[in-house]
Formats: sequence, C-alpha cells, structure tokens
Amino acid sequence: MTEVNPQTAYDDNNIFAKMLDGDIPYHKVYEDDKTLAFMDIMPQAEGHVLVIPKQKAVDLADLEPEYAAAVLMTSKKVMQAQRQVFEREGVIQMQLNGSQAGQTVFHYHVHLIPSSIHELGRHAVTQADNNDLANIAQKLAAVIDA
Ligand code: AMP
Repeated sequence: MTEVNPQTAYDDNNIFAKMLDGDIPYHKVYEDDKTLAFMDIMPQAEGHVLVIPKQKAVDLADLEPEYAAAVLMTSKKVMQAQRQVFEREGVIQMQLNGSQAGQTVFHYHVHLIPSSIHELGRHAVTQADNNDLANIAQKLAAVIDA
C-alpha cells in the first residue's frame, strides 16, 4: 500500500494565521466572526479572492462543520459580488488539500477566481499591483455591504 504522509500539525506561524492575528497586512473583502475574505496577492485572474475560517484547520479534514458552513456562506457572498463587479457569470471555486495537490499555505482556504478553467493563470506565480488589489477589494466589499 502507498504510504500517505499528510501534513497534520497546524503551524501557528503560517501566513494566514499571521493575518488573522493582525501581524501582516492584507486587502480585506469581507469579515465576520468565523471567516475572513481577502485578495490573493498572486492572482490566477483579476479578482481572485481567498476565504479562510477563523479556525486552525490545515485542510478539509480538519474543518469543523460550523466553520465549513460559514466558509461556504462567505464564499457565496464573495462569488455574488465578483459576478456583479466583473460582469461575468463564471467563477471558479477551488481548494487544495495537501502539498501533493499543490497546497502551499497550510491554513484551509477556498479560492474564488473569476475565470474559466480554460483561461486560468498559473498558481501563485505573479504578484499583482497593490493599488489594483486595494481597488478591487474596495469594490467587492462595497457590493457585499450594499
Ligand atoms: P494554496 O497553494 O492553495 O495553498 O494557495 C495559497 C494561495 O495564497 C496562493 O494562491 C497564493 O498566491 C496566496 N498567497 C500567498 N501569500 C499571500 C499573502 N500574503 N496574501 C494573500 N495571498 C497570499
């Protein structure tokens, strides 16, 4: 049988944990008591957003039901805002479990990418302009708050 070697221990110093602790900046799109949504700094398309739970979960295996539900509801809000702001129907929802799948940040997160599977940019390669990210975050947040 193939040996499975999952990353099981949650690292309190991962970059998303530091965001939740307020130790590093991010472009906020939405926040509630169980989730945070912010711009991906190396977007695979314009408007790429990440949604994370305020729970120490490495991947889907660790996610508690109440946080799973909260992440999904926040993802819905973000996706609806992306549809409105980018005037397109197509939004990819993606989530990677484990380094073998390509996961690079080991705090559970959902990617919401206004793109098509045929046009998707490369994963976590090109850093976006900070002002552009701030501008998009503001537009998405305004639609969610409306
Ligand atoms: P994954 O490979 O599924 O774990 O995705 C991690 C994502 O986090 C990638 O899309 C990265 O571009 C993104 N990312 C890494 N560092 C940051 C950061 N400081 N702020 C926002 N997004 C980040």
